[in-house]
Amino acid sequence: KKITIAIDGFSSTGKSTLAKELANYLGYVYVDTGAMYRAVALFAMQNGYISPNFFDSDALIKRLPEIKLVFKFNADLGFAEMYLNGINVEKEIRTIEVSNYVSKVAEISEVRSKLVEQQQEMGRNKGIVMDGRDIGTVVFPDAELKIFMTASPRTRAERRFKELMKKGDDVTFEEVLKNVEERDYIDTHRDDSPLVKADDAIEFDNSTISKQEQFEKVLKFIDL
Ligand code: C5P
Repeated sequence: KKITIAIDGFSSTGKSTLAKELANYLGYVYVDTGAMYRAVALFAMQNGYISPNFFDSDALIKRLPEIKLVFKFNADLGFAEMYLNGINVEKEIRTIEVSNYVSKVAEISEVRSKLVEQQQEMGRNKGIVMDGRDIGTVVFPDAELKIFMTASPRTRAERRFKELMKKGDDVTFEEVLKNVEERDYIDTHRDDSPLVKADDAIEFDNSTISKQEQFEKVLKFIDL
């Protein structure tokens, strides 16, 4: 019987790695909800609504109906890429610039309700692994399996830094650590659906348990 798996937690805790592995193994659909918030942040950037000391949230809210987000599966990569209004933005949404703005955009209730609605629609058929910040609490409070992932900020910044370096991004470790800490703060303090562990979620601390152990633990919870 297919189920819904909700994976939440702080940034760079390895949520998407675990989610992708589970989806591949179980033949489920994987949805990276962070990519959706990132695409909205990119739209705000492209239209000049957000910059280091400026954010015109009203202008963004007005144009939300124009924002079309679609995931298209790329068989070569083995995962779905994000399309913003018909354009593949998978690379652009992963830059440190977008990372610096995304949590501000994700604080806006109108943005959240638009994306949550689309996510719930995508999960109408079971057999889905979705990762984000509010999946077990808001998007799918009835998910059969909920996982909450943590790790120390330093461990997470190291992960993210390595990823960005591999892509040739020009960032320093300190910049990445600062971004991770700032996003944690905003994500846990916003009024609308702050990042919290669902009462019935299993917690994994990625600084102390390996990827393989996590994967095996999760499988024990799934009645295959
Ligand atoms: O998962 P990722 O790090 O790509 O998410 C980027 C940002 O999007 C998070 O820091 C958070 O501010 C926001 N987000 C959210 N709710 C989700 C997924 C992401 O608020 N379900």
